[in-house]
Amino acid sequence: MSRLILVLGDQLTPGLSSLQAADRASDVVLMAEVMAEARYVRHHKKKIALVFAAMRHFAAELREQGWRVDYVPLDDPGNSGSLRGEVERAMVRHGCGAVIATEPGEWRLMQEMAQWPATTLLDDARFLADRHGFARWAQGRKGLRMEHFYRLMRRKTGLLMEGDQPAGGQWNYDHDNRERPPGALGLPTPMRFAPDAVTAEVLDLVARRFPDHFGDLTPFWFGTTRDQARAAFDHFLTHALADFGRYQDAMLTGHRFLHHAVVSPYLNLGLLDPLDMCQRVEAAWRAGLVPLNSAEGFIRQIIGWREFVRGIYWWRGPDYAASNALEAKRPLPAFYWTGDTPMACLRACITQTREEAYAHHIQRLMVTGNFALLAGIDPHELHEWYLAVYADAYEWVELPNTIGMSQFADGGLLASKPYAASGAYIQRMSDYCGSCAYDVKAKEGAKACPFNLLYWHFIARHAERLRGNARMGPMLRVWDRFAPEKQAQLLRDGQAFLDTLR
Ligand SMILES: Cc1cc2nc3c(=O)[nH]c(=O)nc-3n(C[C@H](O)[C@H](O)[C@H](O)COP(=O)(O)OP(=O)(O)OC[C@H]3O[C@@H](n4cnc5c(N)ncnc54)[C@H](O)[C@@H]3O)c2cc1C
Ligand code: SF4
Repeated sequence: MSRLILVLGDQLTPGLSSLQAADRASDVVLMAEVMAEARYVRHHKKKIALVFAAMRHFAAELREQGWRVDYVPLDDPGNSGSLRGEVERAMVRHGCGAVIATEPGEWRLMQEMAQWPATTLLDDARFLADRHGFARWAQGRKGLRMEHFYRLMRRKTGLLMEGDQPAGGQWNYDHDNRERPPGALGLPTPMRFAPDAVTAEVLDLVARRFPDHFGDLTPFWFGTTRDQARAAFDHFLTHALADFGRYQDAMLTGHRFLHHAVVSPYLNLGLLDPLDMCQRVEAAWRAGLVPLNSAEGFIRQIIGWREFVRGIYWWRGPDYAASNALEAKRPLPAFYWTGDTPMACLRACITQTREEAYAHHIQRLMVTGNFALLAGIDPHELHEWYLAVYADAYEWVELPNTIGMSQFADGGLLASKPYAASGAYIQRMSDYCGSCAYDVKAKEGAKACPFNLLYWHFIARHAERLRGNARMGPMLRVWDRFAPEKQAQLLRDGQAFLDTLR
């Protein structure tokens, strides 16, 4: 009896464990576009289009390789709207007695699929650290630090190693990677692709069926095939990697991508292989084409942060999503959906998010994330926002970045201190403040930068909790030295701004 091989929308990899376990001659591959997955948060229109178009191209790729693929488009009149419904229908259609699938990337689906009858879930082997091994490593450790995990991963993969020692003598070159924004001339841009007929059909579908979702659908320029994803990565290696390191934290109005790779949408779908990418980055360094700080910085993001946050996601379990150590309760301000705010930094990052379904790491962490942290926005609402608005957002990677790194809502499990900063950080790393209605230098009064007002409000709100954190000590001592009248004034100004968010 043939088996049904279910391939999910972010499992577009020919070497997927479920395909490896299947028999091309007798088994049937099922791929289905279902409303339940497209709507459980209101994903950005570009994200839905990217996933559906890439799925359709992958189905064609599998057929070319000789697989029997049953593909259910969203508009199929019989489409039940759920994965479970589509699996049941396909079992009957093909007379299958069992289902094989690679584990999904979310607790929500994992819990659901674990209840399906006659279904075998296989490990997702597309990562460099297996999640059970991570849990064993993490269990019982006093503090979890990415840097320790990263060194293990360098040794495990052999990337940038000279024997047992890191290439160049240091494990981490982050201190070289904090330069202010470059001039606007000659900046690289990511590779753009014109939609082919398959993608154009999906764009039409998304425009019709998801008009109420966030974000601009067009212009749509993401690649939707494995070859295009590879070409986009090659383009990054040639045009942007050399300066990736030094400008990694910079932000510049009108230059949305700077030297970032803009490959996470492809990588998270399974169109690129993380180890292959890192090996190619290392080869570029060994060939003398790019400096070590850029190569190391890039490799650290992939084998360090990306694997580390995934490990934490699975290790902490489904309850991690409800973490709220700082008891933040404020609703997400409406301007997160519109960009309609006089704060130039937030306006730029949110407008770009709406138009591109992309913002780079520092825009997410130090602008939208930092503001939410300082203002005490409910981390779960914020998590649903990040999950919806970015083309690369899948819960295994988005949730720990939001809950742990950006909002400190897990109480410091993932990050050693809150990523809280005043306007001075944004001024140093961007040119946003020049066009802002607020004055980044002002610390009080109606014109004062809201990040400045909220920074001290945040420190004061959480002073008792943060006193136990050695890295926050210097800022707490500054707060303690302020005269009581100054403290009271700062708190009043901060609160007055917060009241405007209602
Ligand atoms: C609040 C918040 C939410 C985030 N949500 C997501 C998300 O949903 N999906 C996602 O892929 N990344 C997420 N990130 C991490 C990071 O912002 C994106 O991976 C990065 O911006 C993708 O753009 P890029 O491909 O140009 O990355 P580059 O800056 O060029 O980095 C190269 C690659 O490194 C990996 N990477 C870098 N930083 C991280 C990180 N902190 N965690 C995991 N991988 C990393 C990505 O795969 C990325 O493609 C989030 C970060 C924050 C602070
Ligand atoms: S002044 Fe403050 S709010 Fe305005 S852009 Fe600068 S950091 Fe952002």
